[in-house]
Amino acid sequence: MIARWTHDRDKRLAELLMEGLSASRIAAAMRDGTSRNAVIGRIYRLANPTPRAPRPRPIVQRAPDQPLVEDEIILPTSLCVTIADLHQGMCKWPFGKSPYLFCGAKSSPSSSYCRQHTLLGLSPEGRLRYERRFGS
Ligand SMILES: [Zn+2]
Repeated sequence: MIARWTHDRDKRLAELLMEGLSASRIAAAMRDGTSRNAVIGRIYRLANPTPRAPRPRPIVQRAPDQPLVEDEIILPTSLCVTIADLHQGMCKWPFGKSPYLFCGAKSSPSSSYCRQHTLLGLSPEGRLRYERRFGS
């Protein structure tokens, strides 16, 4: 059976190492079936902790004329209108920094935003409720 490296076993390993024992003598002194290679591996891992690297995110390529997919919601091709050109019935989803541009697509009857921007602004549960109420 392979024993796990607990805090107490690490402490014992460090004590034996400080006494100047070789890996094979440390393994024998552990008296729990630890092998020489396990001692060498543990000393190496304690001296060289491996930081967890973040998993790389896949890069999604899309054709320039395809609508942007964000969180599996297909965004409309926005008109990008200024506030002066924004009228009732147009999506008021803002883009960028001041001076803002707005989506300008036809807003849904129940919202100030187009259907896709309404869905984008909702939580996953809210999206389900919205789609049950207004259809998908
Ligand atoms: Zn919109």
